[in-house]
Amino acid sequence: RRLLDALSDQAALAIERINLSKDFDKAQRAAERDRLQAALLTSISHDLRTPLASILGAADGLAGLPDLTVDDRKALLSTIQEEAERLNRFIANLLDMTKLESGAVTPNMGLVDVSEVVGSTLRRAERILAGHRVETALDPGLPMVRIDPVLFEQVLFNLLDNAAKYAPAGTIISMEGRRAGNLVSLRILDEGPGIPQADLEHVFDKFYRVRKADSQRAGTGLGLAICRGFVEAMGGTIEAGNRADRPGAVFTITLPAQAEATA
Ligand code: ADP
Repeated sequence: RRLLDALSDQAALAIERINLSKDFDKAQRAAERDRLQAALLTSISHDLRTPLASILGAADGLAGLPDLTVDDRKALLSTIQEEAERLNRFIANLLDMTKLESGAVTPNMGLVDVSEVVGSTLRRAERILAGHRVETALDPGLPMVRIDPVLFEQVLFNLLDNAAKYAPAGTIISMEGRRAGNLVSLRILDEGPGIPQADLEHVFDKFYRVRKADSQRAGTGLGLAICRGFVEAMGGTIEAGNRADRPGAVFTITLPAQAEATA
């Protein structure tokens, strides 16, 4: 974690600085890039190993301790499940980021009913959201939007994952869908600490994490960078902000409205 911490704050910026700086000659630039990439690989390996160690530990417990109570067994199994899911998300994030950076994201656009994607994302995120109360308020008759439903689900999933991660258990996570002129906006609101004003413009940067403590939690600092990349690839915008009514973050996705809802 400590290494990731340092990298999270520095790597993206450092690589950019090196690319721009005139003080570095070509060889130095290449050497420095190699060094940073090696450090990044080390930190990624660490992030892969931590959940794997928990999985192996729990599996060893299940296999080697014959007298476990049913409850202990259940606890070990859910550790395995949760840590495997975390690994899965981490790897998915890395792959998504690589695809975005190599320009390999080609959205498969179609006319989609926002409420259907919201529904399917909530089903997929059920386990992650289990500790929170989820409220959805989608205006009836929301117009259809032209998006790639798979990419869009990934965006909503990342936002819900963050809301669940940063807002305390038991608080409300809400999703609101509105029409505003010829735009459709979808907001995800939570009751967590929110995001300091000065960090708002950076949260979509790769590896950017607001609080030092955030790097103690599972995460890559890539989730929001992926969200922005995907939303923009679909012709929409995404913004971060804070709630006006109480502490908490708000993420707003805006897309052009396409046609009236069929329902
Ligand atoms: P991470 O893997 O760290 O969650 P993200 O790119 O998804 O990476 O988010 C970047 C940073 O933005 C987080 O580390 C956190 O500091 C902040 N952040 C994201 N979502 C929220 C939220 N709902 N509430 C408070 N802070 C948030």
